[in-house]
Amino acid sequence: MRMPSGKKGVPKAHPHYHGHEAKPTAHLDASSSALFHTDFSYSSELLSFLDGKQLLPQEIPFPSDLIQAHHEHGYLSYEKGLTKTKHGWRCARCGNEDPHFFATFPCARCQAMCTYCRKCITMGRVSECTPLVTSRVRFPSVSYPNPLAWSGTLSPGQKRAAEAVEKAIMGNGELLVWAVCGAGKTEVLFQGIARALEIGKRVCIATPRTDVVRELAPRLKQAFPSVPLIALYGGSDDRGKFAPFVISTTHQLLRFSRAFDVMVIDEVDAFPYSVEPMLEYAVAKARKETSSLIYLTATPKRSWQRDVRHGKRQAVTIPARYHGFPLPVPAFEWCGNWRKQLKRRRLPRNVLAWVQSRIEAGKQAFFFIPHIEVIDPVVRIFKQLDERIEGVHAEDPQRAEKVQAFRDGRLPLLVTTTILERGVTVPNIDVAVLGAEDRIFTESALVQIAGRVGRSAQHPSGDIRFFHYGKTREMVAAKRHIERMNKEAAERGMIRR
Ligand SMILES: [Zn+2]
Ligand SMILES: [Zn+2]
Repeated sequence: MRMPSGKKGVPKAHPHYHGHEAKPTAHLDASSSALFHTDFSYSSELLSFLDGKQLLPQEIPFPSDLIQAHHEHGYLSYEKGLTKTKHGWRCARCGNEDPHFFATFPCARCQAMCTYCRKCITMGRVSECTPLVTSRVRFPSVSYPNPLAWSGTLSPGQKRAAEAVEKAIMGNGELLVWAVCGAGKTEVLFQGIARALEIGKRVCIATPRTDVVRELAPRLKQAFPSVPLIALYGGSDDRGKFAPFVISTTHQLLRFSRAFDVMVIDEVDAFPYSVEPMLEYAVAKARKETSSLIYLTATPKRSWQRDVRHGKRQAVTIPARYHGFPLPVPAFEWCGNWRKQLKRRRLPRNVLAWVQSRIEAGKQAFFFIPHIEVIDPVVRIFKQLDERIEGVHAEDPQRAEKVQAFRDGRLPLLVTTTILERGVTVPNIDVAVLGAEDRIFTESALVQIAGRVGRSAQHPSGDIRFFHYGKTREMVAAKRHIERMNKEAAERGMIRR
């Protein structure tokens, strides 16, 4: 359904909204069967606010009478938040069907015991009596001529990938961009996104991690200065807004419905997307039926790697880094039963020697450990070598300060859990893993960890040491993964000589 022209407006929050209650159950209809009254004087503010969204009534900053009138005249549809299935319930917002994630509460609105979804509760309660509101009208899309202001150059590998991305976007196809850490995968999207925006397509880049959203948003704003762009994550100021260009955590996608022509999933393998069917559901719901889907990752899961090798999945690889030097390959080093030693407040000699030699050479390093409990005892021992050594983990209140101190060169070594496996790029460092045999160090985690080393053209190499108490399949797979990429890069003439 298209809006009659001449009435389109910029979405604006209603100034007199004071938080109205939703309508009771009797008003729910999932059928969207209301007749569409063309003589109704609709609010373009409300409709453009709701365009492409699926929201709880309390998330819509307009009076409930106005919302209700739009519903009665066929402009909005109310979908049931929960529907009955053969086995129990299904949440229409997050797709949850797991009985463990449903509970009941005495509900004031429907004055009965009411079931609700616990899975997506952090985004507001979806219960039996909750409608999810979507707009039934689409606004004409806006196009942005020549939106790309970026003038950098692409490496040959990036160029080929950029062309494949553009082709997938224009043809509403699906594509995996498998790019090594440091290949420059964001720039690979620019050309295709520019084409999409030029013809009025709506673009979303989704990633599981808030850090990535925060980091990417300013870069994208700079590359596309004329295009309204919003960044969505828990607590972001842009929540509730809509723009032709959205960068969002996968979680925030739950508030969209059939919104995007182009969906890019960054770091598809990263926690929690790979383990969370909810987020997969969110991605599927937020895309239009006809749309393109681009996955970006350095470490696709093994089944995808296999599919790519057998030509069963459309993919383009960038096996070389932007600077054209090969990826440093990890070395394995047995270190015995380090946990037992740690109980006696000791660490294996070769581990200490590695740390000592970094300190002497003045080379900074990340030191990865498998579990948070290991940080303190390890740091205590390392502080005897250099008291500036610190440890950091996900819930550390000083996390940002410590990472910054490391970036500034004020810390020689940072002991860390896998939280720093992605994202943090420091030009000239070595990395070690203690207990590389631990289950937490999957192929993907180890490839990402190795990917921290040699990122800048000035310092393209470095030492990657996996200290272990028994080599694992994951370790071997990670090393083979890196070697295979180097081989492919060499064969394609992408390695600098
Ligand atoms: Zn839910
Ligand atoms: Zn209720």
